[in-house]
Amino acid sequence: MKRRLTLHFPREAVHQPITYRLAVDFDIAAKILRAQIAPNQSGTMVVELSGDIDELDAAETWLERQGLALNRAPGEILIDPQLCVDCGICSSVCPSGALQFEADTRRLQFETARCLVCEQCIPSCPLEAISLVLEAP
Ligand code: SF4
Ligand code: SF4
Repeated sequence: MKRRLTLHFPREAVHQPITYRLAVDFDIAAKILRAQIAPNQSGTMVVELSGDIDELDAAETWLERQGLALNRAPGEILIDPQLCVDCGICSSVCPSGALQFEADTRRLQFETARCLVCEQCIPSCPLEAISLVLEAP
């Protein structure tokens, strides 16, 4: 089965060969969907894990023991164009640059492929135009 997780790395765990250990120790294939990890800094990675359900559970426990925080409620960020007024506030809290305020057009640009699903933008919107759409299990 497949499971999609957001992994938050503390600074001390950034250099660990996570995908290698998942493959060798748990027979789990890890497909990195998005990542933002700078050397010697904390980071975030969205991964799709494929493997046996028991091994996936064991791997999650192992990841947490390594100091990683796991978000098990993955989904996609959705911006409601009916509510958004292109104020640009949300772009100031987006760590990945997925949300950008384009000065020329004065419009908000959302690049889904860069989104880490960190959810930091959701509470920043005064019009509640941003939501997390959960995927079916
Ligand atoms: S969830 Fe929001 S703040 Fe986080 S990376 Fe995606 S667009 Fe940016
Ligand atoms: S904060 Fe809300 S209204 Fe403002 S640009 Fe972002 S999504 Fe649109």
